[in-house]
Amino acid sequence: MRRFLIAGNWKMNTTRQSAVALAGELATAGSNYEAGVEILVCPPYPYLIPVAEKLSGSAVQLGAQDVYFEAPGAFTGEVAVEMLKDCRCRFVILGHSERRHVLGESDEIINRKLRAAISGGLQVVLCVGELLSERQAGQTEEVLDRQMQGGLSGVAEADAANVVIAYEPVWAIGTGVTATPEQAESAHEHLRNWLATRYTPGFSENVLILYGGSVKADNAESLLGQANVDGALVGGASLKSSTFVPIIEAARKLSART
Ligand code: PEP
Repeated sequence: MRRFLIAGNWKMNTTRQSAVALAGELATAGSNYEAGVEILVCPPYPYLIPVAEKLSGSAVQLGAQDVYFEAPGAFTGEVAVEMLKDCRCRFVILGHSERRHVLGESDEIINRKLRAAISGGLQVVLCVGELLSERQAGQTEEVLDRQMQGGLSGVAEADAANVVIAYEPVWAIGTGVTATPEQAESAHEHLRNWLATRYTPGFSENVLILYGGSVKADNAESLLGQANVDGALVGGASLKSSTFVPIIEAARKLSART
């Protein structure tokens, strides 16, 4: 049975002090959620170490928001997989819509990062999702297929086992507009079928597919209650424990029911 994963993407937010305080609150809350619900936080790079220290011994896992695909060397401004491992990261988010659409990352770059991350021992949250114009043009599935194909190009099933997919419709990220549970489920089912065809049905059944896009306490249960929604990637609402913990709590309630 798939577990729930509730991930917080802090983006370029928090200070060292607020990041450590938030990590401390989540570490305390996380001790109640060991069965069936995993928690992940992804702070900005400079706060990975103090947050890792605060999370030490807790059930809350640590991830980064990006990584570079080359080994350490002359790549000014970049961060290598080994460095994230050294900071106790277990996960890295790749292909987030802000990296695709603000920073211009291609599927090819995302794929190079993904392969480097996995071969270096990180788990990857691979984000895919369509623009509003693409949804309105009826191209959602085509876009998802292209991003999945590009991101997972050359990745064998054994390595793909280290990938979590996050379906994040771009029009729902940070906008307050959420996909309906039906829209989310339809995209997630499509992604799971894609994985079954690209790999095997047995493999596909075990892949976690998170939903992201304005997830909040009041919509979490209906989204997480969908058959193919295995968790959430949360931006804005992950910045305070008072808004993030209720999302974790919604997952816990649903996992206790199954
Ligand atoms: C995100 O950044 O991945 C995200 C889903 O943001 P928000 O929850 O703020 O829409």
